Amino acid sequence: MSPPTAGPAPPPVLELDGVTFGYSDATVLRAVSLSVREGEFVAVVGPNGSGKTTLLRLSLGLLQPHRGKVRLFGIDAASFREWWRLGYVPQRAVASSPLPLSVEEVVRTGLAGRERSARRGKATSERLEHVIDLMGLSAVRRRRVSEVSGGQQQRALIARALVTAPRLLVLDEPTTGVDAAARAVLRESLEHLVGVEGMGVVYVSHDPGAFAGLADRVLEVEDGGLVDLAGSILPSVTRQTASAT
Ligand code: ADP
Repeated sequence: MSPPTAGPAPPPVLELDGVTFGYSDATVLRAVSLSVREGEFVAVVGPNGSGKTTLLRLSLGLLQPHRGKVRLFGIDAASFREWWRLGYVPQRAVASSPLPLSVEEVVRTGLAGRERSARRGKATSERLEHVIDLMGLSAVRRRRVSEVSGGQQQRALIARALVTAPRLLVLDEPTTGVDAAARAVLRESLEHLVGVEGMGVVYVSHDPGAFAGLADRVLEVEDGGLVDLAGSILPSVTRQTASAT
């Protein structure tokens, strides 16, 4: 993590500027704008089929807007390649694998070759230890991922998304089908990641209880637009520190 620097504030980690998108027959999002900064937790709600996943896929450059711009860290999402700067936990992801991978090995797959640099080696192993601990996986790190609980598998996937120390974390319905213990660990770790590590988070859920007390802003996808619920329904947490160290 870089030390705080004087000068202009860094660009938002994610910007959508007048984005319009539809699949073959229908427009799903119309002229949507959104900006997320480091240390900010933005929740996106809306009924099934409203366009939440589409919004995330556009945000990650997996879909191209028909109109408007998407930028990641100030770079056009279509040409963005610094994937280690963002972590993505897709919807209904399951960590079970036909390969006999351990929990730790699944987390390591998030590094995708980045640990090869000797200069980064120590920081990488420290980060690996940190995210395994943060997600409460220390006791099961050597177990086969196919043999741990669904909640532990989901936590392994979140740890995998975090292992490169991204500055933006995008989560799509991360609590679907996971147990209460996994939900509690996720809440605690998100509080740490945003409040202490200064990560930007976009959290999609149809369940407001999942992020109550964590979100700075709650946006609802409604009729193709984004409505700011003004955070009034959910108080935000008191940050331990808002600095992006
Ligand atoms: P949500 O995540 O809020 O449930 P989605 O973004 O998945 O909503 O879907 C928004 C709309 O786009 C829905 O009407 C859905 O049926 C449609 N849709 C999603 N993916 C595709 C696709 N690949 N092709 C065509 N239509 C799609």
